[in-house]
Amino acid sequence: MFGRKSNSDQKSKSDAKFPHIGSLASILKNESVPVPNILESILKVNSEPDLPKPSPSKSVNLIQEVQKFDDKTIKPFIDYAEGSIFYPVLSNIGERQDNISYLDDLVSDGILAKHIYEKLIVCPIHPTIFSSSMRLYCPKCHSMNVEKLNLFEHKKCGYIAESKNFNFSNIEHSICPSCLKEIKNFEKEIRVPAMWYQCEDCIEKFDNAVIKLHCRKHDHDFDTNSGKFITTFCYKLKNSDISNISDTTQIKDELVKLLRGFNFTAELNSLVKGKSGNTHEIPIFGKSKSTDDSILIFIKNQSTGVDESDMNSILIPKLDIDPKNTLLVTVSDVKEGVENMAKHYGINLIYDPDFSKIISRVEEFVSAWYVNNGGRK
Ligand SMILES: [Zn+2]
Ligand SMILES: [Zn+2]
Ligand SMILES: [Zn+2]
Repeated sequence: MFGRKSNSDQKSKSDAKFPHIGSLASILKNESVPVPNILESILKVNSEPDLPKPSPSKSVNLIQEVQKFDDKTIKPFIDYAEGSIFYPVLSNIGERQDNISYLDDLVSDGILAKHIYEKLIVCPIHPTIFSSSMRLYCPKCHSMNVEKLNLFEHKKCGYIAESKNFNFSNIEHSICPSCLKEIKNFEKEIRVPAMWYQCEDCIEKFDNAVIKLHCRKHDHDFDTNSGKFITTFCYKLKNSDISNISDTTQIKDELVKLLRGFNFTAELNSLVKGKSGNTHEIPIFGKSKSTDDSILIFIKNQSTGVDESDMNSILIPKLDIDPKNTLLVTVSDVKEGVENMAKHYGINLIYDPDFSKIISRVEEFVSAWYVNNGGRK
């Protein structure tokens, strides 16, 4: 029974060092989470909002769509003219294609993993315009009339000449101008020993052309070093076990209902500000309406099991927010060391392969806490 540990018992022990956690203080300091308006999220908690409930079937549909992709990855589509990033697959499940927070929620649920897809270099003056292209200029006269010259070598006979002497226009039937043998495989039979540029206007030959980026919409060049970066992300399916995913969404819905039954405000994927000033996204954040005590509930269902790194990701918000109670619930296996770590840091670990048992154990826990505080329903 982890739900019944006395709180003072846990607090007295949590000063000892856990070597694998590292300096949490430094993590907290360095963590640069964008801070949205905390007032807004508090207001939301207090006003019993109509929460947009993530429907299990929607997430399951998305997983099924992503499973059809070879690389199991949701990639962004970039509209260079409009300067917008969207994910077309979202329209298959009835979501807006630019609903990035929907995908981010699935990341915090452990279903998707977020990776950098690319860094676009955009115009520093017009950063909302994504369409810039590269331009080459002659370093002497600044003309754009620059041609690329290559030396080609036919490896078999050693003949070296400028690329224009080799006629590769007919790919099926290229012939070495020296030995007149047929060149079947360009990659294998031809070496490129040298490459340079020539300006057609001033006839200057040079190794490196001047490279500029061109802001297409506003028709001006900018220096490559002055460009701004726009990062786009792709989302890889992490957990393809559909039953886990539908368990997670069902558990979430049940737990929110349960907390509200005990006169708590409860919010899904809530943004909560910690002592450090950083904001953390909490799967379920509950606040007692009678005592103002708060509870964080984390849900980690994954076929690989729950390990210490999952615990570390919970510890950061837990220590920063410092709620009255923290629960970690899972239907997955719990790896060695996790239980001790949970005990040490006062996290109540509830695991059971049967999700209805999880709900009843959380109910026992909240009800005991509730009775101790003399709460009224
Ligand atoms: Zn521009
Ligand atoms: Zn020139
Ligand atoms: Zn040859």
